[in-house]
Amino acid sequence: MIEVKNIQETNLVENPVIAQMSKSNHEQILFCNDNATGLKAIIAVHNTVLGPALGGTRMWMYNNEMDALTDVLRLSRGMTYKNSISGLNLGGGKAVIIGDSRTMKSEALFRRFGKFVNSLAGKYITAEDVGIGTNDMTWVNMETNHVVGLPGKSGDPSPVTAQGVYMGMKACAKEQFGSDSLTGKKVMVQGVGHVGEYLVASLAKEGAILTISDIHEDTLKRVSKTYGATVVGINDVYDVDMDIYAPCALGATVNDDTLSRLKCSIIAGAANNQLANEAVHGIKVMEKGIIYAPDYALNAGGVINCYSEVKNLPAAWALAKADEIYKTISNIVSRSKNENVPTYQIANKMAEERIEAIGKVKLPL
Ligand code: NAD
Repeated sequence: MIEVKNIQETNLVENPVIAQMSKSNHEQILFCNDNATGLKAIIAVHNTVLGPALGGTRMWMYNNEMDALTDVLRLSRGMTYKNSISGLNLGGGKAVIIGDSRTMKSEALFRRFGKFVNSLAGKYITAEDVGIGTNDMTWVNMETNHVVGLPGKSGDPSPVTAQGVYMGMKACAKEQFGSDSLTGKKVMVQGVGHVGEYLVASLAKEGAILTISDIHEDTLKRVSKTYGATVVGINDVYDVDMDIYAPCALGATVNDDTLSRLKCSIIAGAANNQLANEAVHGIKVMEKGIIYAPDYALNAGGVINCYSEVKNLPAAWALAKADEIYKTISNIVSRSKNENVPTYQIANKMAEERIEAIGKVKLPL
């Protein structure tokens, strides 16, 4: 009989990759290398209790491979939480291709990557992320069917994402102001790109008083004229007189500096990783009496749109599912108040609770 020893009892040196993997509780990591095409990629499958792991592929020129590994582990874990809290039958995964997206793309590289995705036999479903376009995914699709976000399929996810953000913002308003009407509410939308502009359109229709900011002058001019929004410079965003701050551009905009300036009572926007440091700023926003709508629960419309493609569901289903973000955010906010725990922690708990519960359903009879 083979004697199994605890690692502490052996002379084994801990492998930093395996150590990182077990710390974040990942199921599988696939390292992909192909010298002929120049492909260097990592696919991380975090958790597949709820279903196949879905998450986009990012192409980025990382400083080194360990940075790429850290990023893919963090992002794939985030997808587990996002998919779970959104009530989707999807697990969490993500992939990164290490390289310059402006100079290193080729049909061969993406097809080779597609072969690696295919080798996971549907355990991981890929999609677009930073640095990747629909054409790249068409190449990936030549080697695997486990890909969504293809041209002519579910299409641009931004309208669905914006709808979810809008509904979640209303849920916060109901909790903070006693009514979910946004008529007359002062909303600062930072970044009027794909999601930001759709959000501005819904808010304008409801009669919100809008202030916008962006780094692109032409976009700003067009959006401000179309929806009657006031424009502010990118450095003045945090000093604007506002009820609601909607970050729809960058991450980490809720930090020590901005929190000392922000006078809003709700933070609800599409950007990922809005809290510079979850543990610090998640608590600080609560202490300031601000309701923070956890970003991954609020901006789940994008993945809901992908799921509609996986399951061949109509666009109307995706929009209706995004409307349910109202209820999700309401539950998070009221539980946060009742338990006196920051909203980001409640969202994490709710995501973990669903995985635990459904994990039991999936046990063999
Ligand atoms: P986008 O690139 O179309 O729009 C971002 C906008 O922000 C651009 O117009 C850009 O010029 C502007 N911007 C950049 N830096 C800025 C700054 N310092 N101040 C003000 N504006 C600035 O991106 P998007 O698809 O609209 O996504 C917006 C955010 O939402 C991103 O953080 C993205 O990760 C997140 N998100 C998007 C989706 C989706 O469906 N598109 C889904 C989930 C999350």
